[in-house]
Amino acid sequence: MAQIIDGKAISAAIKEELKEKVEKLKEEGTQICLAVIQVGSDPASSVYVGNKKKACAYIGIDSLAYELPEETTQEELLNLIDELNEKEEVNGILVQLPLPKHINEDRIIQAIDPKKDVDGFHPQNVGLLCIGQSGFVSCTPAGIIQLLKRSGIEIAGRECVIIGRSNIVGKPMALLLLRENGTVTIAHSKTKNLQEVTKRADILVVAVGKPKMITREYVKEGAVVIDVGIHRNENNKLCGDVDYDDVAPICSAITPVPGGVGPMTIAMLMYNCVEAGTKR
Ligand code: NAD
Repeated sequence: MAQIIDGKAISAAIKEELKEKVEKLKEEGTQICLAVIQVGSDPASSVYVGNKKKACAYIGIDSLAYELPEETTQEELLNLIDELNEKEEVNGILVQLPLPKHINEDRIIQAIDPKKDVDGFHPQNVGLLCIGQSGFVSCTPAGIIQLLKRSGIEIAGRECVIIGRSNIVGKPMALLLLRENGTVTIAHSKTKNLQEVTKRADILVVAVGKPKMITREYVKEGAVVIDVGIHRNENNKLCGDVDYDDVAPICSAITPVPGGVGPMTIAMLMYNCVEAGTKR
């Protein structure tokens, strides 16, 4: 039977650790504060923003919410970011993506002070990760490293294959697994003979954005399978990029959807906020 990697339990443990740390910091006179900006009222974004605010409240981090109308201009958003960059009491700035089409996301990400970039998307933080120096790391892949480590799964020397090369998941995932001394391959939409590549994996991370695409034909017996995908199926139930029922019986460990990678993203965002309030 595959080990089911319990992202709910692991994220809860991380949140407890952070809560204790934040309490101690408060006693020493340090209050951590995250500014969350949402432009427009996309329902999925509103849910994500709401969950982030809830996590802040639970851990003891102050959160400032900026709910801006859809027609906010790029310049107005840049002005707000400048203001928050200057505010000493604000440790982290998060702009919920996606932004409305008239706003250039890259331009916005680059405007955030890298020391407050708790999403880890700023090119300076991506560059630091690339050269193995400390900086903020994108929350979802950072959470996956925690899932592996806290489940006792060895990374060093193992074949790691990632399906997907996005800036938010696939690429930073590859760099983090490399940092942990894995032998790393990135597969993507132009990869030839995908099944041959993925079957080499001892650790297979799937961030392809296609519901239940990965069946057992893609997976080596005994592999560890990490499913990043989140989708709603025809019955409005959550499912991942991996066909869980088909794959789970042949692997050594697997993350479920929901309750696997998902809860880790917010836990690591909280981790980055605490880092922002202490180290930098
Ligand atoms: P994306 O769409 O930016 O990237 C998908 C990647 O998959 C691309 O690099 C593409 O090259 C590759 N790809 C597409 N079709 C392929 C195919 N047939 N064969 C091989 N490769 C293929 O997606 P993303 O932002 O990296 O997210 C991936 C999934 O993870 C989505 O389902 C998303 O909702 C989910 N996600 C979850 C979390 C979380 O917190 N759990 C966070 C971010 C993203």
